[in-house]
Amino acid sequence: MYARRRGTVNTTMIQSFPARRTQLNQMEIRRALPVREHRLVGPWCFLDRYGPLTFTDDKPMDVAPHPHIGLQTVSWLLDGEVLHRDSLANERMIRPGELNLMTSGSGIAHSEETPPRSTGRLSGVQLWVALPDAERHRAASFAHHSDLPRLRVGEGDATVIIGALDDTRSPAQAFTSMVGADLAIRGKAVVPLRRDFEYALFVFSGSATTENETLVPDILYYLAPGRDELTLLSREPSRILLLGGTPFGEPIVMWWNFVARTHEEIAQARQEWQRRERFGEVHGYEGPRIEAPALIGHAAPNPAS
Ligand code: MN
Repeated sequence: MYARRRGTVNTTMIQSFPARRTQLNQMEIRRALPVREHRLVGPWCFLDRYGPLTFTDDKPMDVAPHPHIGLQTVSWLLDGEVLHRDSLANERMIRPGELNLMTSGSGIAHSEETPPRSTGRLSGVQLWVALPDAERHRAASFAHHSDLPRLRVGEGDATVIIGALDDTRSPAQAFTSMVGADLAIRGKAVVPLRRDFEYALFVFSGSATTENETLVPDILYYLAPGRDELTLLSREPSRILLLGGTPFGEPIVMWWNFVARTHEEIAQARQEWQRRERFGEVHGYEGPRIEAPALIGHAAPNPAS
C-alpha cells in the first residue's frame, strides 16, 4: 500500500502485504516473504507461518530431507515441537522459545518433522536469512540456542532470536547487521529501531495499532529505513515478529531451497542434489528424500530491495 505525495513514495508510511495461503504437504501455511515489492527485508528472504493447530495421530510437520545453499534457516515455535535432523548428523528438537539455526553455507541437507510423541499442538514460523557473498560458500553448521536474551520494550518483552535489538544481542551467529525478535506485548510498547535498517512486522497473535494502522495476523508490514523507534499499542496480549536489517544490497537468485547469485549455480546445486553429491545424507528420517523439481527456464536474479 503506497501513499504518494508529489509523485514520490512516502517512505514513512507502513506498507502491508497479505500472506499467500498454500500447502506444505498436508499442512496449510501462510507465505509472507518474499513479496514482489520486497524480495528481501534486510537479509530476510523467506517467511512461512504455520498453525496454531491441534492434531491427534497425524504428523502435520513432515518435511523430508532436502538441500539448502546460500542461506540460514531460522526455526521458531510458539507452541509444540519440531525435530530437526541434518547431514552433519545433528538431531535436535526445538520447543517454544528455542532457536534451531542452520547455516547452509555451500550445502547441507535436513529434515524437519513432528516427533512421534508430541503435545498435539503446533504453531511456528520458518524463516530464511540470505548469506552475503563473502560468507555464502562457508562450511555448513548447525546451532541450537535455548537461552536467548530478552529486554523490556515498555509494556512488553522482546526475545532477541538473532542479531541485536538496541544493545541486546543474540548469541546466534549472524553475518550481516540484522535483527529477528519476538515481541510479547500488552499495552504500550516502544521498540527501539535503527535508522539504517528496514523492517518487517508480522503478527502471530492478537493485534496492535501504530501510526494509524492496525496490525493483524498473517499480513507482512514493511517499514522503510529512517525510524528511531516504533510505538505499538495492544489491548490484548499480542505476539509480533520483528525482522530487520540493513538493505541487503546484493541481487540474489532464489529457486526452490537455494539462494544463489546466478542461474548456473542453481542448476549445478540441483544436479548435485539429484546425483546425491555435495549435500550428504540425512540419517534417521523414515521415508524418501525430496527430489528437486524441474528447473524450467532461466532463474533470474531478483533486484535487491
Ligand atoms: Mn529446509
